[in-house]
Amino acid sequence: MAHRATLIPGDGIGPEVAQAARTCLEATGVAFEWEIHEAGEGAIPKFGTPLPEPLLASIRRNKVALKGPITTPIGTGMRSVNVGLRHALDLYACVRPCRLYPGVVTSYRQADLVIVRENTEDLYAGVEYDRGTPEVQELIAWVKARGGKTIRPDSAISLKPISETGTRRVARYAFEYALANGRRKVTVVTKANIMKFSDGLFLKVAREVAAAYQGRVEFEERLVDNLCMQLVQRPHQFDILLTPNLYGDIVSDLCAGIVGGLGVAPGANLGDETAVFEATHGSAPKYAGQNKVNPVATILSGVLMLRHLGESKAADRLEQAVAGVIQEGRRVTYDLKKKDDPVPPVGTREMTQAIVERIKTL
Ligand code: NAD
Repeated sequence: MAHRATLIPGDGIGPEVAQAARTCLEATGVAFEWEIHEAGEGAIPKFGTPLPEPLLASIRRNKVALKGPITTPIGTGMRSVNVGLRHALDLYACVRPCRLYPGVVTSYRQADLVIVRENTEDLYAGVEYDRGTPEVQELIAWVKARGGKTIRPDSAISLKPISETGTRRVARYAFEYALANGRRKVTVVTKANIMKFSDGLFLKVAREVAAAYQGRVEFEERLVDNLCMQLVQRPHQFDILLTPNLYGDIVSDLCAGIVGGLGVAPGANLGDETAVFEATHGSAPKYAGQNKVNPVATILSGVLMLRHLGESKAADRLEQAVAGVIQEGRRVTYDLKKKDDPVPPVGTREMTQAIVERIKTL
């Protein structure tokens, strides 16, 4: 029977990479019935909102979605649709595997990391007060009255809520993921020396959860600044990185850089009921519609979706096909080309076609 799934093409380079992933998923022979839904600025004229209710209803019904990136205006304008979707569906665990495929352009020889990022809290909670508003003035006065700390009157303030509930469920997810996927170690990443209450709580709860897995999964702790330095120097010493929301976002791009760039870094947003699969990268608007960018990150997000649906053989074949095309290095996009490579890069569609042809041989 066909799997019913929601497909969100997104904007910028989204429609091109989403189409590439759809083509590759279908080439595995697994049947899909797609429900296609628009989100982001393009959805506003028709639905009056960038995150239309029919889209959310479709994901709730189908349980899985494949999503292209969606643009968020920087500094002003509407709030992130991507963050809104994670909140609306309570997709609390963001899982981003970063595996080094032979043939990518990188200074590293070995890295196989998985970021498990809390996906609903922290500075991403969207609780913010703008400079000069009555709310921010009230908050500044409240803080002064309670603790005596002075915040400058021309400040804007973003709150960083981290709860025991939110931390416990994502920490459990990280350890269960380790057991299910034969992983040896979870490293919890915080700045608990400075943010003693919010990051301190994340660390305390992670330690409690780790105790229940003692003897089965190793556990260690790192401060985020030191982690970044160690990742750059010796990425192979790490396995699963368990992080609060913001550090996870930043560390994901760092790890993507280690394994060959954003073009090869997939991801999944998982809740108890639903799952949305999407690349780590954004909508790269400057490349939109140019048949230029690497489709692999979204195709590998499709591999994660196949595994989630229990289609592990098809997932293995698709991942092998991607790895084969990267390793061969002939029909790959610009980001996978070394400077002195005499063979010119191909476009998004041509690389997708190379992957499709290889799937058929496996
Ligand atoms: P970006 O990830 O879109 O792009 C940064 C750069 O990375 C690009 O200029 C390009 O050089 C490279 N890159 C990205 N994807 C690539 C690919 N598939 N192949 C080859 N190279 C690739 O980051 P940005 O420019 O900071 O953000 C652009 C927009 O995307 C913003 O509006 C941001 O909010 C949004 N965004 C969305 C998501 C999401 O939908 N989940 C995630 C991150 C950023």
